[in-house]
Amino acid sequence: MPQSPQDAAARRAVAPVICYPTETLPRSAFLPEDAQRSQMQLASSTTVPARQAACFHVRAGQIFRITSIEGPQVGDLNLWNAHDLRERFYSGKTRALHGSHVSTGDRLWSGFPTLRPMATITRDTLDWYGIDAFGGAVHDVIGTRCDPYTHNLLSGGHYHHCCHSNLTRALATETGLPLAEAEAHVHDVLNVFMCTGFTRDTGQYFMKASPVRPGDHLEFFAEIDLLGALSACPGGDCGAEHSSDAAACHPLRVDVFNLPEGALDGWSEPVVNAYDRSHGAGGAP
Ligand SMILES: [Zn+2]
Repeated sequence: MPQSPQDAAARRAVAPVICYPTETLPRSAFLPEDAQRSQMQLASSTTVPARQAACFHVRAGQIFRITSIEGPQVGDLNLWNAHDLRERFYSGKTRALHGSHVSTGDRLWSGFPTLRPMATITRDTLDWYGIDAFGGAVHDVIGTRCDPYTHNLLSGGHYHHCCHSNLTRALATETGLPLAEAEAHVHDVLNVFMCTGFTRDTGQYFMKASPVRPGDHLEFFAEIDLLGALSACPGGDCGAEHSSDAAACHPLRVDVFNLPEGALDGWSEPVVNAYDRSHGAGGAP
């Protein structure tokens, strides 16, 4: 066991700095006002059955809303550019930019090299929850997704309704891709309604029963044309376990809305990231 240095306390006492100050982060050019929201027209509605996933399409400039129905339920969300599956939600950079849990005003960013907002959160009925006494909060971008590989590693067996498998099957059905190809497009999720944190003593990832109740919703503005997939996690409210058929599970609903005429005047889709991608090769300065 290495000895602590004599100045260990002083080194620990150094104050942290925020990795990515957000003052220069582009904010959404559009956030719906209540009057516009009340004039929205339902364009499509998708019910995600319990322990399954379903895909849905949202056009740039539409609103989509994930709603808890019937009972407390966590959802695992994947997003792709509807025209190019290579551009997909980057939960790690979203976490680095906005924090471990997201809410109103935060944006869901795509990966490199596009790194642009795919969607902006426009309403969160669980905004009131904040950070609880355990350090838990709602809608995390830390938990990756429940998957059969980790389950097999820790417990053995072959459970087929983890969110990873649900999302894989849903994407394969939607696109016609073979299962193995579809699986490669499934990525780390936004854990909608899930209540999570890290334990203070061991730093371990924890979950606790979600505070979500039927009627609660998380609403997004689509910044680009999106293909989404949502899994109703086999963990249900994720209060106990998440890779078995033991938990009470409920469906989720995804509603897509058209905004009223004129609401998007002056708004345009975010362009892809401006970095020149030379990476310093060829003697570039
Ligand atoms: Zn799950």
